[in-house]
Amino acid sequence: MKNHDIIVVGGGPAGLTSAYQLNKYGFDVLLVDKNTFPRPKLCAGLLTKKTRKLINNIFSVTTEDLKQKEVVDFCSDYYQIYFKDKLIYETKMKDAFYYVHRRVYDNYLFNLVKNSGVEIKEGTEVVDIDLFNSKIITKKGKEIKAGYIIGADGANSVIRRKLLTKRDDIKLDDFKKNMAVSLEAVVPRSELKLDFDHPILYYGILNWGYGWIFPRKDFLVVGIAGLKKSNNNFKDIFMEYLDLIGIKNKDIDYSGWQLPYGNFLKEPFYNNTLLVGDAAGLVEPLTGEGIYYAHHSGLLAAKAINKAENYNRNLISTYKRSLDEEILLRLERFKKLSKFFYGQPAFMQKFLLKVATKTAGNYLTEIIQEVKDDR
Ligand SMILES: Cc1cc2nc3c(=O)[nH]c(=O)nc-3n(C[C@H](O)[C@H](O)[C@H](O)COP(=O)(O)OP(=O)(O)OC[C@H]3O[C@@H](n4cnc5c(N)ncnc54)[C@H](O)[C@@H]3O)c2cc1C
Repeated sequence: MKNHDIIVVGGGPAGLTSAYQLNKYGFDVLLVDKNTFPRPKLCAGLLTKKTRKLINNIFSVTTEDLKQKEVVDFCSDYYQIYFKDKLIYETKMKDAFYYVHRRVYDNYLFNLVKNSGVEIKEGTEVVDIDLFNSKIITKKGKEIKAGYIIGADGANSVIRRKLLTKRDDIKLDDFKKNMAVSLEAVVPRSELKLDFDHPILYYGILNWGYGWIFPRKDFLVVGIAGLKKSNNNFKDIFMEYLDLIGIKNKDIDYSGWQLPYGNFLKEPFYNNTLLVGDAAGLVEPLTGEGIYYAHHSGLLAAKAINKAENYNRNLISTYKRSLDEEILLRLERFKKLSKFFYGQPAFMQKFLLKVATKTAGNYLTEIIQEVKDDR
C-alpha cells in the first residue's frame, strides 16, 4: 500500500523546492530530514541574482523579503580576485552578491514549506531505499512507501549510493574521486587587520580550486575548496592560506565538507526515484555554486512528476530533457572552462585570469549572476 504520493528525502534547497512545488500541484508529500531545523550547513552562502530570481518564482520571496526578515546577512556590489597575494581584478557590479547564513536561510524556507501543508518528519534518517517498490527505510527500521521518491540528501547522498549500484555507466568510486574537499571557518572581524566590506576570491593557493573571504555583518567566512584527487593535505593548505590572508590565530574552529565539483550525473534517476541538487552532483565546476542548481533541479523534478501524473508524460524522459536543457548544458560549459583553466600551470592560470578579467571581467560576472534563458 502506498503511504504518500511522493517522499522527498532531505530538506536543503533542493528538497524544500521539490516538496513545496509538489504540494502546490496538490500531491500528498512527505519530507524527511535526518536533522531537526534549524540545522547547520557548511556553506559560504553566496546567493547570485539568478538564485534570488528563482526563489521569488518558486516561493514568492523577494530579495526585499529576505532582507526584511534578516535572512540576508550581507550584500556587496564590489569584489576582488587575487592570485596568491597579488590583486588581479576588482570590479563594481550592476547587481550585488547577497550572503545568507545557511542555518537561517534553510530554516526560513523550511517554515514556508511546513506552513504550506507538507507533512514533515524531522530527525528521521534514511538508511536505505527499495528502488523497485519506491520505499524508504529509516534508521529506526520503518518502511515508508510512495509513488515517487526524490533524493535530495546532499553531497553524501544515501539514495545516490544505492542508485549507482543499479547503473553500469557510472561507478560510485569515480564520483567520489571527483569530489572537492572544502574547509571553512567563521572568523571574528577582529582577527583581520582590514575591515572587510567586500568578498575576495583567491586563486593559486591549491590545485583545482580556490579560496574565499566572504564578509558578513559580524564576522568573515573564510574557506578553501579543491578537487580531492588533486591535493594532498587540506589542513596544511588551509593553514598556509590563513597565513596568506593575515589570520594569525590558528586555533580558530574550522569544519570540512564535500562538494561535487564537475562530477554531476547526466542521468540522475532510476525507476520512480529522481535525484536533485548535490545528491545528483549539480554544482558549477568552476565557481562551486550549488544553491541555484539545487533549487532549479528540485523544481524540474517536481514538474516532471506532475507531468507524468497529470499529462501522461514519461517521468524519466521529461526529467532528463529539462535537466539537459536547463542545467546540464550550462554545467558542461563550466566544466570545459574549468578543465581548461585548472589544467594549466600556475603562471598560465595567473596570466589567463589577468587577460580574461581585463578583457571580459564584467561579462564573466554577468554570466555567473544571470542565466539568459531564466524560466
Ligand atoms: C564550504 C562550502 C561552501 C559553499 N558555498 C556556496 C555558496 O557560497 N553558494 C552556493 O550557491 N553554493 C555553495 N556551496 C554549495 C551548496 O552548499 C550546495 O550545493 C547546496 O547546499 C545543495 O543543496 P541540497 O539541497 O542539494 O543539499 P543540502 O543543502 O546538503 O541538504 C541536504 C539535506 O539532506 C539531509 N540529509 C542528508 N542525508 C540524509 C539522510 N540519509 N536521511 C535524511 N536526510 C538526510 C540533510 O540534513 C540536509 O538537510 C558550498 C558548499 C560548501 C561545502
